[in-house]
Amino acid sequence: MDGTGNAGDGGQGRPDGQERSDAADAPERPDRPDAPDGHRRREPHHPSMNARLNWLRAGVLGANDGIVSTAALVVGVAGATMNITAIVVAGIAGMFAGALSMGTGEYVSVSTQRDTERAALARERRELAEEPDAELDELTGMYRDRGLSPDLARQVALQLTARDALRAHAEIELRLDSGELTNPWVAAFTSFGAFTLGALIPLLFITLSPDAWRVPATFLAVACATAATGAISARLGRAPAGRAAMRCVLGGAFAMTVTYGIGTLIGTADGL
Ligand SMILES: [Zn+2]
Repeated sequence: MDGTGNAGDGGQGRPDGQERSDAADAPERPDRPDAPDGHRRREPHHPSMNARLNWLRAGVLGANDGIVSTAALVVGVAGATMNITAIVVAGIAGMFAGALSMGTGEYVSVSTQRDTERAALARERRELAEEPDAELDELTGMYRDRGLSPDLARQVALQLTARDALRAHAEIELRLDSGELTNPWVAAFTSFGAFTLGALIPLLFITLSPDAWRVPATFLAVACATAATGAISARLGRAPAGRAAMRCVLGGAFAMTVTYGIGTLIGTADGL
């Protein structure tokens, strides 16, 4: 199951699985086979492990959002004016605007997802109570569709139904782990916190640097920070870290260049 809108991209940025550089500088996975096709290393197999990885990636991506959007905002204002108060006010407002919007957005999206999952589970529970035979046939059919022989599929369905029928249906039919519905508050606070942490980096650098160094120092700090978030999120998703870091750095640099250009144009036109 995809926990959140942000975390749901388990397949995005997946490695093609053949990156030697990635395998070479990632010694922390002792169970990673050296076989070049590297099938087993694609995905940690425990579902809650997957969920945790998704959360981590969502947090890192949220921080990246905070870094880039706040940096672009303060650099844009700094392009228009030397007034540090204006820059700081814009930065703080932007930080809260972004963090609150991410937090509430995540709350809404996870709540909706959870309602959907609960409704699906309730429907499944009702069907199991009302027509257990049809549900057993359905489960058998799903295992047959997956390539099991009719006899074996029946056997699997019978045993799974005896153990925990709802869970068996949730897992294969709804692709849900019935014990693990995501908490929207946790999602909201994670996003809020991650965005805020990220936003503090450009905010501190533009505030604390000497006037002449504000923009270049922020630019540099953001390049380092986005390289880190890109590399970490790639590593969590088993993708090559170098390329992801480069993409993140370029994305941040592009955003800052655009807003700085806009700020400079407006500042010049306005005579600020
Ligand atoms: Zn069912």
